[in-house]
Amino acid sequence: MVIDGHTAVCGLIGNPVAHTRSPLIHNGLAKELSVNLCYEAFPVTEENVGDAVKGAYALGILGLNVTVPHKERVIPYLKDMDGLAKKIGAVNTLVRTTDGYKGYNTDMPGLYRAMLSDGIKADGEKVIILGAGGVARAVAVMLADKAEQIYILNRTLEKAEKIALEVNSYCDRKVATAMELTDYKKLAGSKYLVIQATNVGMHPNCDRTPIEEDAFYEMVKAGYDLIYNPAETLFMKKVKMAGGEAYNGLKMLLYQGIIAFELWTGSKVSETVAGKIYDRLKESI
Ligand code: NAP
Repeated sequence: MVIDGHTAVCGLIGNPVAHTRSPLIHNGLAKELSVNLCYEAFPVTEENVGDAVKGAYALGILGLNVTVPHKERVIPYLKDMDGLAKKIGAVNTLVRTTDGYKGYNTDMPGLYRAMLSDGIKADGEKVIILGAGGVARAVAVMLADKAEQIYILNRTLEKAEKIALEVNSYCDRKVATAMELTDYKKLAGSKYLVIQATNVGMHPNCDRTPIEEDAFYEMVKAGYDLIYNPAETLFMKKVKMAGGEAYNGLKMLLYQGIIAFELWTGSKVSETVAGKIYDRLKESI
């Protein structure tokens, strides 16, 4: 691609950002769709988030992705926020408007699009979420009006309780229940959709999974690990060994990027192009 005076600039702010795959996604999409846009990763420390957002706007930057640890910290510097981002309380995409950036959360629509593309629907399902961090909370918010029941299992019970309370407060029924990790034994049946949203099992600690006992995996119909490095986590191996379907978080990463790119450029990314970028992402892991 030739960078010229018309090239739109987008990027990622976070800390650290050196290992990000987002430039691969966005520069790849720009090339495939012949959009004059380039994407760069910018390491930004905590105390510089406000200056970074204001500076980016002053420089005419079209859009930014925001990653750990700034997804909440960036909010005071926005002019506006999309409804879903407000509900989740975290922003991963900034879109330029006439008087500042508008914040969106494309992580959750990204996960949902990834699940649909893998043929997994949460509608009417009994869902177990492992973890109660930022992403687990967002998953619970997103699935609250879709799932039949959501069980949030976390090492620190209080964090799961806080999420369950919040989710139930805006649902007209008690959809979410907080439990400790070992409490899976209290659940009946064997048809659960499990979203693995802890960071246990992430490279280089690939021999770990938040629940070790094989009995748990007998309950899993489909398992979605939000980790994508390694490509097959121990959680996924155990789900498959017990006869369930298992997926990693690479498609979530892909689709959160695609939705951000669509917001910035107004273009629509076809499944053929998405597939090409996905293959490149897989090769990069
Ligand atoms: P976070 O806020 O730091 O939460 C981490 C969670 O993991 C907490 O529930 C924590 O439990 C649990 N945990 C950590 N160590 C544990 C251990 N040894 N045993 C049991 N539980 C443990 O992290 P996050 O931002 O929500 O991210 C969660 C995961 O999502 C990460 O793996 C991240 O890579 C992944 N992710 C994927 C994508 C994607 O596009 N695929 C995007 C964003 C995030 P406690 O509450 O007890 O500490």
